[in-house]
Amino acid sequence: MIDFRSDTVTKPTQAMRAAMAQAEVGDDVYGDDPTVNSLQEMAADMFGFDGALFVSSGTQANLLALMAHCERGDEYLCGQQAHNYKFEGGGAAVLGSIQPQPLNNQADGSILLTDIEAAIKPDDVHFAHTRLLSLENTIGGKVLPQDYLAAAQSLAFNRGLKIHLDGARVANAAVAQGINMSEITQYFDSVSICLSKGLCAPIGSILLGDERLIAKATRWRKMLGGGMRQAGIIAAAAKLALTDQVERLAEDHYNAKLLAQMLVEIPELTVDMSLVQTNMVFATLSEHINSQSLARTLANKGILLSPSHQLRLVTHNDINTADISIFVNALKQAIR
Ligand SMILES: *Cc1c(COP(=O)(O)O)cnc(C)c1O
Repeated sequence: MIDFRSDTVTKPTQAMRAAMAQAEVGDDVYGDDPTVNSLQEMAADMFGFDGALFVSSGTQANLLALMAHCERGDEYLCGQQAHNYKFEGGGAAVLGSIQPQPLNNQADGSILLTDIEAAIKPDDVHFAHTRLLSLENTIGGKVLPQDYLAAAQSLAFNRGLKIHLDGARVANAAVAQGINMSEITQYFDSVSICLSKGLCAPIGSILLGDERLIAKATRWRKMLGGGMRQAGIIAAAAKLALTDQVERLAEDHYNAKLLAQMLVEIPELTVDMSLVQTNMVFATLSEHINSQSLARTLANKGILLSPSHQLRLVTHNDINTADISIFVNALKQAIR
């Protein structure tokens, strides 16, 4: 199968499976798991934070961050397209009694600083307390500029807000710019990072923050049922995600560019090359093509994609350069 649906479909590498089989473990709720502890220390060090917490998913990492920064009746500012607004089941509202204040994302994924300024509520009984600004990088495969992050950080600081990064794919953002991940995370009070997407770990995300934030998040994690016991089994793979898989993302970015360049040649598709910055390609199908039947035809040839008028094609470790040509040929045939 050549699976373009998401980079979440990546299987753990052989090295990960071997490390998992041999991992030293303990009860992590007691803080006794040496592999989890070493992952957390390594991540804190790598990203320049006091503390790190290994959690079950990116959704849980974002929720813990929101609940650690905000109290009941507070609000966070985020993009209309933000994962932690649109794709996390309303968890902040349901479980944290925290109100989202979504703001328009510009075409490049950023939120205008003037929109952020205008959305910060005055201290008045009518309003929720605005506590937090939450950004996402990459967002829809796009990289937020470093000078934008710096400006957002100073805005947040000047207005007394904390600033969180949903950095599910921050490694892609760093590799695309040829910089260290810590150069991106330096602008934030907390960061969530997925290890189970392009970085190939089977399970797990990391939340970064200062000691106080990590202590609060650890408490909420336990309450939410996220206290895992011999989690060293999965932390062993997660460590390799950080040490062995980050640089490799450049191959996914190369394959995405290649794919986009080949798709541009197909008259029935529209691809905006300026949006191809990391491992995602968005291709709009012309009206007469039925995306459901297209997806069925391709599935019969061993190629998976999510049917939509606007296709999102994601490259990852389990797709190589040859697979790109196989897919493009199959797509041309299916369209004709
Ligand atoms: C995937 C993703 C998440 C959530 O991660 P899960 O591990 O699937 O819960 C959060 N934010 C962004 C931007 C993501 O792409």
